[in-house]
Amino acid sequence: MKTVLFHQHGGPDVLQYTEFPTPDPRPGEALIRLHAAALNRMDVMVRNGWPGLKLEMPHVNGADGAGEIAAINSLPLGGDGSEVRVDTLEAGELETRGLEIGDHVVINANFGCGKCEFCVAGKDNMCRNWHLLGETIRGTYAEYVSVPLRQLYKLPHDFDYHQAAASALVYQTAWHSLVKRGNLQKEETVLIVGAGGGVNTASVQIAKWLGAQVAVVGSDAKKLSMAESVGADLLIDRSKEEDWSKAVYLATNKRGVDVVVDNVGTTFMMSLRALRKGGRLLTVGNSGGPKIEIDNRYMFAKHLSILGSTMSTLPDFRAVMDLIVTGKLKPVMDKTYPLKDAAAAQERLWRNENFGKITLDIGS
Ligand SMILES: [Zn+2]
Repeated sequence: MKTVLFHQHGGPDVLQYTEFPTPDPRPGEALIRLHAAALNRMDVMVRNGWPGLKLEMPHVNGADGAGEIAAINSLPLGGDGSEVRVDTLEAGELETRGLEIGDHVVINANFGCGKCEFCVAGKDNMCRNWHLLGETIRGTYAEYVSVPLRQLYKLPHDFDYHQAAASALVYQTAWHSLVKRGNLQKEETVLIVGAGGGVNTASVQIAKWLGAQVAVVGSDAKKLSMAESVGADLLIDRSKEEDWSKAVYLATNKRGVDVVVDNVGTTFMMSLRALRKGGRLLTVGNSGGPKIEIDNRYMFAKHLSILGSTMSTLPDFRAVMDLIVTGKLKPVMDKTYPLKDAAAAQERLWRNENFGKITLDIGS
């Protein structure tokens, strides 16, 4: 198959468009013929590498992908009909989770083992043997990928592969953070720090869908106009309001907001100042860098909580994809590149030149 891979970490020129063996689906897996992959900033971080990151080279980037099922290696069905239990196998019983060859699917990149205490409790994004497609295992910048059947969401036949791929990682991440960790309520106020990225755009839409009031602080008018187009109520231009926590404070009659979504990290102090007493700061990322300093007095004096999470659970993924395929949530799409131009696509993303999600076209 054709793929874009790298043999060592580095800049965009380590990416090679080349042939690589098509992966064989293992028991319980489907081979997906990919039509679209979507980019995430994580792709570039993995390509660059970080201390402690150990990959089996060559590595293939890509957490997000959508395509059609080309083959299924059926899962022998356990005695209880729910999960594979090797000790209860009966010959001839097979499980395909209702999926068939030719079905259109989108992949959930959050791989739980299905067996550990967290997976059994339905918290598979806390799995003790957790994998993220494209980070710890080879991903979707390829014509084919093999993934466990439980990671697949069946798409309506006429649903666009690029929109599906663009939605999977960012919407589940935003959903789990806002709905499950943040318990965001209708009529609460939420401030989203950053107007550009995919998770933030998804967060604006999900918060509006829940009935919350949404403020967004962004670095330029163009990105703020995108936030407005997906429903943001209050726009704060960081280039004009350097201390935006004060602007939020004044805009809320000196009360502060109920929830802040801060995936920048280095802005935590301003986020803590923007919160009301008892407010929650939600974080799923650190686009501004990993090390931050906070003034602990804000934490206890204002009764604040910082709630972190990554990705989501299988039910969260299905819930949010149901809203995507019915058009209640809609990803903002930027530009599509052919698979062979993945390096140029990553450069556009890394330089923040995009306005929505960038996707790769992988044959049709
Ligand atoms: Zn697990």
